[in-house]
Amino acid sequence: MMKRDGNLKSFWQDKTPLQPPISKTIYSKMHFDAIVIGGGITGVTTALMLQLAGKKCLILEANKIGFGTTAGTSAHLNSVLDTPYSDIIDKCGIEVAKKVAESALEAIQLIKRFVEEYQIECEFKEVKGYMYATDGQEEKELDKIYQSIKKVGLPTSYTSNIDAPIEFTKAIYFDQQARFNPLQYIQCLLDIYIRNGGRILENEPMQNVEEEEGNLKVVGQNFNFTAARVVHATHTYTGINKLNFKLGPYRSYVLAVKLQNSSDYPDGLIYDMQNPFHYLRKASDDSGDVLIVGGADHKTGQEENPHYRFKDLEAYVRKHFAVKSIRNTWSSQYYESTDALPYIGALSKENPKEFVATGFSGNGLIFGTLSAKIISDLILTGESPYSDIYAPLRNSPITGFKAFVNENANVVKRLIGDRFKKETMAELAALSRGEGKVVSYEEENLAIYKDESGKVYALDPVCKHAGCIVQWNNAEKSWDCPCHGARYSIDGLMLNGPARSPLDQIDLTENK
Ligand SMILES: Cc1cc2nc3c(=O)[nH]c(=O)nc-3n(C[C@H](O)[C@H](O)[C@H](O)COP(=O)(O)OP(=O)(O)OC[C@H]3O[C@@H](n4cnc5c(N)ncnc54)[C@H](O)[C@@H]3O)c2cc1C
Repeated sequence: MMKRDGNLKSFWQDKTPLQPPISKTIYSKMHFDAIVIGGGITGVTTALMLQLAGKKCLILEANKIGFGTTAGTSAHLNSVLDTPYSDIIDKCGIEVAKKVAESALEAIQLIKRFVEEYQIECEFKEVKGYMYATDGQEEKELDKIYQSIKKVGLPTSYTSNIDAPIEFTKAIYFDQQARFNPLQYIQCLLDIYIRNGGRILENEPMQNVEEEEGNLKVVGQNFNFTAARVVHATHTYTGINKLNFKLGPYRSYVLAVKLQNSSDYPDGLIYDMQNPFHYLRKASDDSGDVLIVGGADHKTGQEENPHYRFKDLEAYVRKHFAVKSIRNTWSSQYYESTDALPYIGALSKENPKEFVATGFSGNGLIFGTLSAKIISDLILTGESPYSDIYAPLRNSPITGFKAFVNENANVVKRLIGDRFKKETMAELAALSRGEGKVVSYEEENLAIYKDESGKVYALDPVCKHAGCIVQWNNAEKSWDCPCHGARYSIDGLMLNGPARSPLDQIDLTENK
């Protein structure tokens, strides 16, 4: 069974295997004050805050706690966000940008408060952040970013030292940032949640949520729960919703690297200004420090050979550091909104009892924690000082519609096994071991993968979310949808939303 939504193990999983949570008994028909769907940082923090406030909660997780991006992250806690404040000011105005900065700081403080109050051992450390430029063009951009950070009220200064052996021409630093181990952190939050009576159900995907006599009915294959409130903490809203057209799915790549010189590990969080940019921090394992380097992002399903992205990252690290060994390589998924701010709050006017938290970009540990605060405030008091700026219902541009329509023009009919003779399939399956491909046959498409032992898997490549055709990801051995980012394993199981059901398997042997 896959431990995360990809084939490659992240540094955090390698170092911090989660203990299986044991909560009170759950019956297939139960009523809860709140059901939180998704067991990443967003779902775990939200459920904990509601449970601590006296609500009876359930975390419903399709796989295992920590299966999603929370285990594939790089775990910078930064109030200077990936989207520069200059862009946020341009798109949303200075007053909104100030509130965004204030809320990001509040999220870091909330994590710090949990760490201190519950004495959570998760390597939490407050550090400085640094951003550096390497040429005139980048310097101009850096000056603009510096001005915008000041305008939104965060402290920043120019500096001649960035705490890493990287050459630069101009740099700034900003205080009150932090880093931690995200899996240790959510493991401790879960322990507190369970101690306070919270329940967890793993390996059970939510299939549908519907209104029933004033409550919400949450349905899966083996359960039929009701709840007064439901929180979709699944990273992207699963199912068809307007939000799908306001989110772009992206992959980002990470290396955990051992360096030759122990003095080269930076204490702070470091960012360059390339596009896509690189992000660095240090962590540690049993044998000492580790450098975590991320970047090389691209739109999901739109890179023919994701292995090249790891090569790009490796070249970047080797240019600046003497590398002893590469400990882990992995990639993971995030979702960008069209106006740079996440969508946090009530799903729609028609569904005021359902809440969603998505569109976090590369700052979802901050925004996931903030979502927990906003959504628990909305459920408990009906108000949040940040509900307006992050409201999912706000006016923000819709994109991706053209791609959606184009892809749907190609939607293939579902393949039926008896249309393929065994010999034909053998021909279609003439792939190298470990390779996957969407092949066309008589105007139909088929997603085939041959594993290392030579076994061939065949799937209908039509994504279950909106009918686009999935693409092979050779790094994570998955089928990724280029439209809205749904991802599937080699046997069709769901790895990431917004799909709610697996790809159809095609039996190659049944019709001889
Ligand atoms: C490479 C990379 C680096 C990053 N670095 C940073 C960083 O430094 N700082 C930062 O703040 N952010 C960072 N981010 C973003 C951040 O890690 C994520 O936004 C955040 O972890 C998302 O947490 P989540 O709980 O919302 O989602 P996830 O952790 O993805 O959890 C969602 C859960 O929902 C479950 N689920 C899905 N569908 C269903 C269903 N139908 N029924 C039940 N359960 C379901 C999934 O199995 C999953 O466990 C990074 C992202 C990437 C890709």
